[in-house]
Amino acid sequence: MNTQVKETNAKKILTEAKGYLDVGFTHSLNPYSGCGFSCLYCYVREMPIQRFKDLPWGEWVDIKTNAADNYINEIQKLRKKSKPVNIFMSSATDPYQPIERKAEITRGLLEAIIDYPPDFLQIQTRGPLIKRDLDLLIKLKEKCKLLISMTIETDREDIKRIFAPYAPGIKIRLNVMQELHDAGLETQASISPVLPFTPDFPNVLKGKADHIWIDTLSIGDGSMGKRSARLGMPKLFQENNLEKWYQKDLHIKVEKYFKKYFSDEMIRVSKEEAFPR
Ligand code: SF4
Repeated sequence: MNTQVKETNAKKILTEAKGYLDVGFTHSLNPYSGCGFSCLYCYVREMPIQRFKDLPWGEWVDIKTNAADNYINEIQKLRKKSKPVNIFMSSATDPYQPIERKAEITRGLLEAIIDYPPDFLQIQTRGPLIKRDLDLLIKLKEKCKLLISMTIETDREDIKRIFAPYAPGIKIRLNVMQELHDAGLETQASISPVLPFTPDFPNVLKGKADHIWIDTLSIGDGSMGKRSARLGMPKLFQENNLEKWYQKDLHIKVEKYFKKYFSDEMIRVSKEEAFPR
């Protein structure tokens, strides 16, 4: 896919958490606008940032070149308030999408975050490139609570190719999650959104993830399924004879199944509006 890349100066980098993020996170942090992974189910496609854009989702990425400087200014002000700062990176992009290899905005942010840590940082990604920053992540975990949440929507590559053809393969994500886990980082497998998987999926995640996060297209799109419907997800499931996987109570069934393999404490399930994937 051809992606138009532009450099921008963002006014701010930390956005106060509202709505679905207001569950312990105080801020979201998006190093980019747009996302080259272009997942078909991505709810950001239905948000104003994309709806008023002249290019399709996936075909544009804005690099926030001043992200690290902004972060340092903003966190210093927040720290004066003596309130917890819990950051979710990222809610409307992927911090390790293809352009990050060259642009190193996320890497620059991590360097700044090591110097000015929040209380908690969750890095949400499906980009194996995160492995490049292992040196920084190891330093960072000594400074604040750190959770690396890798999106693993399914264990089936054929299913991934239908729903997220431009995103990295599942196997490579699993290998990276294993490496991060083995390096002593706290990891989460984010099954978000749940896509059709094989019965062996829980075993595939064993020993790689400290936590399992479950949410679905019906409850995790920030609008109780309305955005997923507008994105044509029910039709895409039907066309691929997968309709039995598009059910409102899918999260309950998946939770029950995973609890046969993992302790209750390890599993967290989106009940209604949820964290972004
Ligand atoms: S779901 Fe995440 S990785 Fe996929 S296009 Fe949206 S922001 Fe990018």
